Amino acid sequence: MQIVSSPEEMRRIAQQVRQEGKTIGFVPTMGYLHEGHLSLVQKAKKASDFTVVSLFVNPTQFGPQEDLDRYPRDFHRDRELLEKVSVDLLFAPEKSALYPEGFSTVVRVEGLTDRLCGQSRPWHFGGVTLIVCKLFHLVQPQAAWFGQKDYQQCQVIRRMVRDLDFGIQIHVCPIIRESDGLAMSSRNRYLQPEERKQAPVLVRSLAAANQLFLEGERSAARLVSAIHSTLARSPEARIDYVEVVDAESLEPIETVVNPAVAMIAVYFGQTRLIDNHILGEDLSY
Ligand code: AMP
Repeated sequence: MQIVSSPEEMRRIAQQVRQEGKTIGFVPTMGYLHEGHLSLVQKAKKASDFTVVSLFVNPTQFGPQEDLDRYPRDFHRDRELLEKVSVDLLFAPEKSALYPEGFSTVVRVEGLTDRLCGQSRPWHFGGVTLIVCKLFHLVQPQAAWFGQKDYQQCQVIRRMVRDLDFGIQIHVCPIIRESDGLAMSSRNRYLQPEERKQAPVLVRSLAAANQLFLEGERSAARLVSAIHSTLARSPEARIDYVEVVDAESLEPIETVVNPAVAMIAVYFGQTRLIDNHILGEDLSY
C-alpha cells in the first residue's frame, strides 16, 4: 500500500493511474476505522482497479465548541487495517497542505443543508462539501463510496456532484451496526458505560416506527411520535431532532406516499449520535 501525504503527489499518481486506463475507487474517511468504514472499502475494491482511502480529520466541518481536538485518531492501527484489506493507496494529508494560509473558498449546497443536522450544526455541511470537493479533485475517482449512516451527507454530496458536473458515481452503503444494533461510529468511544448501554434505544426507536409503517401507518406525525415514545424510555437520551422526511429531498412530509426516511439525532451526555432508516426496509431490533 502506498502512503501519500502530499496533495501534488496524490494528483500525480491519480493522473498516472487513469492514463493506464484503470478505474479509481475512493472512500473518504476521518480515520479511527471500524467495520462500517471497511465495508465501504470492500465495495470500492470490488468495483475498482485502484482503491484510494483518505484519512483526514477535516477541521472545517467542526464547530468552535465541538470535538475536533479530541476526535479519536490512531494512524498506525488505521494503516494496518487498510494494509490487511490491500488498499492500493492511503492518502493522509496535513491540515496545512489542504488549507494553506489565506484559504478563502466556500462550497455550499443550499436548501438541503439547512435542516436536520444542518439546523443544530450550521457550519457542518459547508465543511463536508468543501473537503469532499477538494479530495475529488485530487484523487480523481470515477466512483466514491459513502455510508447511509450519514444519510443527509450522502444527499448533499449527490447534489453537489450533480450540480457541479463532477461525473463521479456516488454509492451509498448500508449502515453497519454493533450486535445490539448501535450504528458503528468513531464517536461511540466517547460514551460512558451507562450511556453505551442505553444507546441502542436509537435503533429500537427506528424499528418501532418501521413496524408501525409495515402495519400500514402512513402519518408522519404518528411515526415520529412512536420514535419519541421509545426514546423516552432511556433517561440518558436527549433528543436533538426526530423527523420523517422525503427520502430524496429531505423535505418534511405529512403523509408517507413516496420513499421516506426516519432520521434522528440524540445526545447521550456530550455525545451526539445520529441514525436513520428508510421506512419499509428490513430492521429487526
Ligand atoms: P467518517 O470517518 O465518520 O467521516 O466516515 C467515513 C465514511 O464512513 C462516511 O461515508 C460514513 O457515512 C461511513 N460510515 C461511518 N459509519 C458507518 C457505519 N456504521 N456503517 C456504514 N458506513 C459508515
